[in-house]
Amino acid sequence: MKKRIATVSLAGCFGCHMSLLDIDERILELVKLVEFDRSPINDFKKFRARCDIGFVEGGCCNEENVHTLRDFRKNCDVLVGVGQCAVMGGLPVMRNAIMHSDDPLRECLETAYLNSPYVYNPANDIPNDPALPLILDKVYTCSEVVKMDYHIPGCPPSGDVLWQTIVALLSGNPSDLPGEIIKFD
Ligand code: SF4
Repeated sequence: MKKRIATVSLAGCFGCHMSLLDIDERILELVKLVEFDRSPINDFKKFRARCDIGFVEGGCCNEENVHTLRDFRKNCDVLVGVGQCAVMGGLPVMRNAIMHSDDPLRECLETAYLNSPYVYNPANDIPNDPALPLILDKVYTCSEVVKMDYHIPGCPPSGDVLWQTIVALLSGNPSDLPGEIIKFD
């Protein structure tokens, strides 16, 4: 029986999803092994059934990311953080360095929308439409929000790393990954 997998991009750039496409013709083998549930790959926005493995790209920078990540934890037996943004916060976590005042979130928004040298914003507006997800006080890694079972580092992890990780997880033996594909230096 095919395993069920889900994928999502939170505070990420979709580069890790693009890297999955770098498995090239092995994608034909992949669709024999798995069925995609909620994922940008099929554009399913909600879970249709419980999944064996969930792959999460990106960390959490807003309340929608937190809600989505908790939903993945609830619906996936095994949860895997994919890429530096999920594992360590990646580029978005640079925002956490803006913490000189008593109100770091306001300082961050003012830096992005008002005070940066390349900003042209004569109305001095900071986006606050109620439809926008509430921004968190800082960027959180996935494991700061829910229990993660595995992490795959890299920005992005290569197609080979993703392929071998998926095959290892599907075979229930992730510790078999060869050292050369999980060494990043
Ligand atoms: Fe993009 Fe790199 Fe973050 Fe993946 S780890 S979402 S490729 S910035």
